[in-house]
Amino acid sequence: MNNIVNRYNDIRTIVRNAALCHKRAEDVVMLLPVSKRFPATDIRLLAEAGCLQFGENYVQEALEKMALLEDLEIVWHFIGPIQSNKTRDIAQHFEWVHGLDRIKIAKRLNEQRPADMNPLQVCIQVNISNEPQKAGVNIDDVVAFAGALAALPRIELRGLMAIPAATLTDSERAEQYRTLKEAQLALQHTYPRCDTLSLGMSDDLDTAIAYGSTLVRVGTAIFGARQAPPDTSI
Ligand SMILES: *Cc1c(COP(=O)(O)O)cnc(C)c1O
Repeated sequence: MNNIVNRYNDIRTIVRNAALCHKRAEDVVMLLPVSKRFPATDIRLLAEAGCLQFGENYVQEALEKMALLEDLEIVWHFIGPIQSNKTRDIAQHFEWVHGLDRIKIAKRLNEQRPADMNPLQVCIQVNISNEPQKAGVNIDDVVAFAGALAALPRIELRGLMAIPAATLTDSERAEQYRTLKEAQLALQHTYPRCDTLSLGMSDDLDTAIAYGSTLVRVGTAIFGARQAPPDTSI
């Protein structure tokens, strides 16, 4: 079997076992392969092995791959930073957006989401480690942000997403992951479909799953080392 498929299967096993180990249902955590900087042929291998959801960070690159994979029923997740001149392409070609943190962007996505598609499924990105340069809304502003999204009918709030700082101590990590989970569960009382916590990458899978992640985003550990990002100014 192909290496990428092998690695994907291995990580699925790790994710399942982590869920069981932390007393969660075996299938409660989704593994989202992040295929940015990898070719459509790699995605096709995984799709043929049964994986039909992928995360991409760069709009132009993603559109090129979508065109090559049109024959497959892939659900595309946009997980990168959102530039306002790219919202139309995102609204037209993706089912999910994980990195929403500005109302202005949300309004554009809402206006630009085609009427014949499902509402765009979104996660609010939270800057949980309060890093100055990092994207994401402050944890204290999440409820107000969710309230503003509720006025946008072409957008459906599905959860919270975060990329915690890499340098946290174990106790800081535990506290921040717990805070995120509590915030997501609190939102779910008001918005029943807000069932997603998009948290955890190759390096923190186990902790993220222990604290209630429902979706882990894994790139390198499946596809291998990436090349430099493209020039996103074009
Ligand atoms: C690239 C990326 C990932 C995957 O990271 P790896 O280190 O390759 O596993 C996950 N989430 C986001 C938001 C990303 O941009």
